[in-house]
Amino acid sequence: MTAEGPAIFRLYDHVWRLINSAKIYLMDIGYGADEIAEAVIHTIAANALKECYIRPIAFYSAGEMGVNPLKNEVDFAIAAWPWEAYLGENAMSLGVRCMVSSWRRINPLTLPPQAKCSANYANASLAKIEAVKAGYDEAIMLNTRGMVSEGTGENIFRVKRGVLSTPNAAAGILRGITRDTVIQLAMDLKISCHRIDISREELYTADELFLCGTAAEIAPIREVDGRQIGNGDYPITRRLQGAYAGTIHGWNKRHTDWLTQVSPLKIATLKVSLPTTPGRQHNPPELTLYYPYRGLPLSLRP
Ligand code: PMP
Repeated sequence: MTAEGPAIFRLYDHVWRLINSAKIYLMDIGYGADEIAEAVIHTIAANALKECYIRPIAFYSAGEMGVNPLKNEVDFAIAAWPWEAYLGENAMSLGVRCMVSSWRRINPLTLPPQAKCSANYANASLAKIEAVKAGYDEAIMLNTRGMVSEGTGENIFRVKRGVLSTPNAAAGILRGITRDTVIQLAMDLKISCHRIDISREELYTADELFLCGTAAEIAPIREVDGRQIGNGDYPITRRLQGAYAGTIHGWNKRHTDWLTQVSPLKIATLKVSLPTTPGRQHNPPELTLYYPYRGLPLSLRP
């Protein structure tokens, strides 16, 4: 939410990641970036959401049974719902407790980590379940080279002697838009940041660690495998949290180009037509969580 009303953060970066993820799987979504962006804006407006998580999803649907999806239809839906405190109520203030997972992060030789594909989350879920069952908030996954990759739904940053580092793209990460935002905000704040290999023991000896993602935002890590991280102050993490909050709420005027306002004016100029009734409503009805986007042709193949 900004002073000018609801706004979507880095909408086009998310849309392009979706389009590129589909491209990796030879999936023809059939809509261009502008159409997808407009449909997202419509969905937020139609559900009168002020602050929410948005999940557009393209998926192979009706057609032949089997492993080859290329003859199947492609459907596209947009879900949006208020989603607070993804890592728990106190995550952003007190920090989270993590364990290094026994499950390794997928690597590009098996499944492409940079495609934001649902299948990747089977790997992430195994790590998350293991962590939660062991009493932790989140898992940190190593890659198949034994180096730090990321959380199950977040990227990870380390601070040592005032310098920031984060695993590079070759570490099997999803290149998070929040990660990129943090890197750019660090530049604004004149904090140097390196994209390098980080080892497990470098997690234990960090001055600060934090996780970041669209749902998690920026959450300090207060413990890894029973080792306390830092002394609970997290000064650099706090500065970045402040800069991030200022950016997504539009107080920080430096990056207002990252915000797409969902204003009545903007809706009036949209070209796509809005379906009159949502395809499916969840209970309770005041939370219209799932809004299949049916305003455009569903099937991409005749
Ligand atoms: N890694 C994984 C595996 C994720 O699922 C996410 C969340 N989308 C992220 C990193 C963070 O990405 P973003 O900042 O774009 O939300």
